[in-house]
Amino acid sequence: MKPLLFYSTNGHSPQVDLRTALIQGQAPDRGLYLPVSIPTLPQEEIREFASLSYAEIASRILSRYTGGILDESVLQDLCCDAYDYPVPVEKVYGRVHVLRLDRGPTASFKDFAARMMARLIGRFVQEEGGSLNILTATSGDTGSAVASAFHNVPGIRVLVLFPIDEVSDRQRKQMTTLGGNIATLAVDGKFDDCQALVKQAFADPSLSEIPLSSANSINIGRLLPQSVYYFYAASRAAEPAEPVVFSVPSGNFGNMMGAVLAWRMGLPVRKLVVPVNANDEFPVFLASGDYHRIEPSKNCLSNAMNVGHPSNLARLVAVYGGCMDEKGFIHQPPDMDKMKNDLFSISVDDLETARTIRQAWDKHRLLLEPHGAVGWRGLQAYLEESSDPQTPCVSLETAHPAKFPDEIERQLGFLPEVPESLSRLDGLPEKYEKMDVDYPAFRDCLLANYSSR
Ligand SMILES: *Cc1c(COP(=O)(O)O)cnc(C)c1O
Repeated sequence: MKPLLFYSTNGHSPQVDLRTALIQGQAPDRGLYLPVSIPTLPQEEIREFASLSYAEIASRILSRYTGGILDESVLQDLCCDAYDYPVPVEKVYGRVHVLRLDRGPTASFKDFAARMMARLIGRFVQEEGGSLNILTATSGDTGSAVASAFHNVPGIRVLVLFPIDEVSDRQRKQMTTLGGNIATLAVDGKFDDCQALVKQAFADPSLSEIPLSSANSINIGRLLPQSVYYFYAASRAAEPAEPVVFSVPSGNFGNMMGAVLAWRMGLPVRKLVVPVNANDEFPVFLASGDYHRIEPSKNCLSNAMNVGHPSNLARLVAVYGGCMDEKGFIHQPPDMDKMKNDLFSISVDDLETARTIRQAWDKHRLLLEPHGAVGWRGLQAYLEESSDPQTPCVSLETAHPAKFPDEIERQLGFLPEVPESLSRLDGLPEKYEKMDVDYPAFRDCLLANYSSR
């Protein structure tokens, strides 16, 4: 079987297989990788998903991308190992559901992709007998999901940089209590400073002997596993072959791109609702066709969605036949009519997010944190406009409410129950180094600790 090839959205890099795309992260021309043709599943096979487990559905779907580079039995084992936690599809009222993607080890949906990507990269590195260092900057959720996913993977070491004053105690402990192959650097600066240090390291020729890779959301390995839960949720919330409305609270648009891929792979979808917070560059683009990134991005309650220029937009534009470069410049417009037909997007500000947390609780005893509330409000807005009460709907909850106890207490007057994965961190010892925003010092630290010689 010939492996599926991936092209760069900027169109100036050679096509590569999944192994290379995963290890490179971003294409050399700074574009993002997408499959040359999106594999499709027969409808009969999608119908069978109703009786399969999450891990089984994952391996059916991902095998379309790993064929020719990974044995199917190996993939099945990796999926069973990665997806060993519940994925609740909760009925809220009528045919409207919430999909809780918050039961993984770090309590955000990022576990779904990070755990699969880590196992795939670990496998490829092991097969080549090499080693790899994953360097990543985080504002909170990504760093903890990546660190947890790569913890104890042989041949791989992870270094996470985080802004010392901008992550919560719980987020920090999720990264600093792992030890082993996971190291953390607390940077006396902002998230942007951490990201700038990492970017400079990737571009530094004096570090060329250190095998470095990134695990950020532009890696195709962070995208493909995110199409699985749409198939899974549809198999639980709808009749076979019945189209579903999904609502995906969005920041960098990796999650919603998972839905777009699932749709193109053959999953019946009626509408994809893409609510954002006050960073409203996408709904403005969808309505007007004019794209303007928001700089600097606005701070909102749903802080993992504070993105003024979603990096995965280049992929969305490419799937709709256009071309957008990494700076957001549109070289060829996408099919806007089709995009408007498929997608519904609105901006939900903090006032409305807070009101939604209260209303969902008062009306349905539905506990949502700020990201899930943006998704829920977006779905309600779509339903008000479309008056389509018959279609099954699934709104995504992307983090556990216990990650945002202050906001829940402010709106509802009580503290959410803390899952064991988070509460057990409280007693563990932390280990991390502190560093100023000082590139030469960072480079010396990399050379001292990560050189293969
Ligand atoms: C990262 C994140 C998002 C945004 O997902 P994108 O793929 O960047 O659109 C939403 N909610 C939570 C809790 C997140 O951590």
